[in-house]
Amino acid sequence: MDLVDPFGRTVRDLRISVTDRCNFRCTYCMPAEGMQWLPREDILTFEEIERLARVCVERFGVDGLRLTGGEPTVRAHLPVLVEKLSRLRVSSEADSPYAGRKPDLSITTNGATFRLLAHELRDAGLDRVNISLDTLKSDRFLQMTRRDELHRVLDGIVAAQEAGFSPVKINTVVERGVNDDEVVALAEFGRDHDVQVRFIEFMPLDATGHWQASTVVSQDEIVAAIAAVHPLEPVPARGSAPADRWRYLDGKGEVGVIPTVTRPFCGDCDRVRITAEGQFRTCLFATREFDLRALLRGAASDDDLAAEIVRAVGTKWAGHAIGQVSFIRPNRSMSQIGG
Ligand code: SAM
Repeated sequence: MDLVDPFGRTVRDLRISVTDRCNFRCTYCMPAEGMQWLPREDILTFEEIERLARVCVERFGVDGLRLTGGEPTVRAHLPVLVEKLSRLRVSSEADSPYAGRKPDLSITTNGATFRLLAHELRDAGLDRVNISLDTLKSDRFLQMTRRDELHRVLDGIVAAQEAGFSPVKINTVVERGVNDDEVVALAEFGRDHDVQVRFIEFMPLDATGHWQASTVVSQDEIVAAIAAVHPLEPVPARGSAPADRWRYLDGKGEVGVIPTVTRPFCGDCDRVRITAEGQFRTCLFATREFDLRALLRGAASDDDLAAEIVRAVGTKWAGHAIGQVSFIRPNRSMSQIGG
């Protein structure tokens, strides 16, 4: 059975936050100090995550699982979870290229310790990796992440490629007056290192609340800056993927932009999320959550879990309404939701 929301969109992609903790303190995401971490016992165990993922994948045909956080690599024994998830099989009735097969398993990471895990994660069944990188300047990296670890992230990208992940994607949040002068340099990093850079418009999910519309560098601005130096043509048919893509006319790969704020793509959204403590969310910007952990730790059967997931998906809204008077910021920041 497919999971279809009230606007006819079929859910295929589940983002699973495995921890709210992070070894960075990116300014657009977290405060310098004072994050209140969830107590260990509040976080879903691997067995609980596997059970929820099994219901989504094997009953509802969800065919993509992305691990995120917080920083997913700080969760101990992460390859054990990947191995468990790689044993799931997508419902054979799903209208999906993955029907009857293992779901697509991916991770979003800051990459700082990826060298230590790359091979183990690959062997456990991880298919794809996105690494976040917002600047190529080490002093700016220190300012933006509050950690002096640019060299380790760059090494993490190399380690991902050496372990056989292809393509490796880079996530770059662009904030006006912070790193927008590096858009072309970061695009060139992608061209020169055979990685796909995806620029992300700054979203109102920062913990410090400094986001304003004026701090968003729009997709149009990003693409114009790159195309002025390296001519581009659009790649058609994005489907449900969040990034619009362009290809370089000289054949040196592609670049993408995730235009959440200026060109929302909610009409094609196929994503849902589970936070580290087992709250089910139908949108990054949702203001309502469904407590799957309470069901998992009660006497709930898989049928009960499935029914609650169907109920939750039945509340998915048409779109996030950023920029409209009706927009309400969620009371969680990106790291607490799982970006
Ligand atoms: N720690 C991992 C990482 O750095 O990739 C995974 C979690 S992080 C919350 C996931 C993604 O969200 C990262 O690419 C990060 O840059 C992005 N992000 C965080 N806060 C954001 C914001 N306010 N606007 C846009 N993207 C944001």
